[in-house]
Amino acid sequence: MSSHACDVLVVGGGIIGLTAAWRALEAGASVVVLDPAPGDGATHAAAGMLAPVMEAGFGEEAQARLGTASLALWPDLADALERAAGLPPGAVGLETAGTLALAYDGDDLVALRRSLALHRELGLGSVEITPAEARRREPGVGPRVAGAAWVPGDHQVDPRAVHAALAVTTARATHVPRAAVSLTWAHGTVVGALDDAGTTYSAGTVVLAAGHASAALFAGAPTRPVPGTTLRLDAAADRSPAVVVRGTVQGRPVYAVPRRVRPDGRRELVVGATSDERDDDQLARAGDVFALLRDARALLPELDDAVLLEAVTRSRPGSPDNAPLLGRAADGLYLATGHYRNGILLTPLTAAAVDDALGVAPGGPGERAAVEAAARYANPRRFADAYSTTPTTERGGTA
Ligand SMILES: Cc1cc2nc3c(=O)[nH]c(=O)nc-3n(C[C@H](O)[C@H](O)[C@H](O)COP(=O)(O)OP(=O)(O)OC[C@H]3O[C@@H](n4cnc5c(N)ncnc54)[C@H](O)[C@@H]3O)c2cc1C
Repeated sequence: MSSHACDVLVVGGGIIGLTAAWRALEAGASVVVLDPAPGDGATHAAAGMLAPVMEAGFGEEAQARLGTASLALWPDLADALERAAGLPPGAVGLETAGTLALAYDGDDLVALRRSLALHRELGLGSVEITPAEARRREPGVGPRVAGAAWVPGDHQVDPRAVHAALAVTTARATHVPRAAVSLTWAHGTVVGALDDAGTTYSAGTVVLAAGHASAALFAGAPTRPVPGTTLRLDAAADRSPAVVVRGTVQGRPVYAVPRRVRPDGRRELVVGATSDERDDDQLARAGDVFALLRDARALLPELDDAVLLEAVTRSRPGSPDNAPLLGRAADGLYLATGHYRNGILLTPLTAAAVDDALGVAPGGPGERAAVEAAARYANPRRFADAYSTTPTTERGGTA
């Protein structure tokens, strides 16, 4: 059995774990990242919509506030990440061209108008437009669309490109392709972790960022898998939307997120997403692929000509109230998990919260607002009463 010592041990190398690792390295910490398959969790399936407006659900004001605070930080984060990774501007695919929301039939339009009323209540920007106006913005919008809205503040980024950039910025951390099997505790303090090869890690701080699997390592992180499938299509630029198009088709949500046009005149489109309450098996169901394509082509018939590249199923890290868990949950333990369906949107807010925990002063009012929003709406201790946050056994204490 061998052992490692570091300042910060990050368990989970998805977009959230690598963001925490990057911030810790920037603060001068020595960092170890444990993950048997970095980037192959929810981050791999995510479409990358940055959509605090259209993702605002009834009873989810906290998520809307967190999302709005985080979205404001995305341009600076993209810029900082691209520079730190030595990539050209635009490499992580941040696009701020807005989102077109469509309603397929009369009932979908009733639901869309209820959402628009909620946006007004929450002070979020969206405006109803006619189907003809929608077609002027996106000529490929189908003939049977009953209504539409323009959402100027919902955007997108490419999660796989962000993760690849984070992999560069965290290259000087020690990356271990192993799974943590338990946290190690001593006298009520988390002092490290044990991996599946029997190696122990001792750390001043453990950042638990294992996505939906976080609950298996700490009961006070009550995450659960919420599997979802996205499809990658390859389409001619002139037969695909130029902005994010999302909508409902007979009550079923669907979206198409267009990436930048390549030099060959084609682009990738991400079509999604299903959402299920079942175990995480990473298997794409035929019926899900069929339903996503059927609903996407109801809104955008020209997608029939696109080439189907991939169907990917991964699990969102759900939490009991759909808001993330960001902050200290025990001495030595920082939670960065439970980002559910908005982890890409919430990446800059997570970075700001981690900076704050590391004692790095906020860079400006936007970061201060994000740190305040995280403290108010994402405090992990809100689950402390309902879920035991003390370990049933204290193993291998090294401190
Ligand atoms: C279909 C789908 C579409 C989505 N679309 C969007 C979107 O448009 N916009 C948006 O903002 N969000 C979206 N999301 C949500 C977003 O993907 C997640 O919130 C985000 O990726 C969470 O990142 P994470 O790093 O916490 O988790 P993950 O990306 O799941 O990473 C967790 C990592 O932990 C590792 N791990 C697990 N167990 C252990 C262990 N025991 N030891 C060590 N490592 C471990 C895993 O290998 C994995 O790499 C979507 C998610 C899905 C599934």
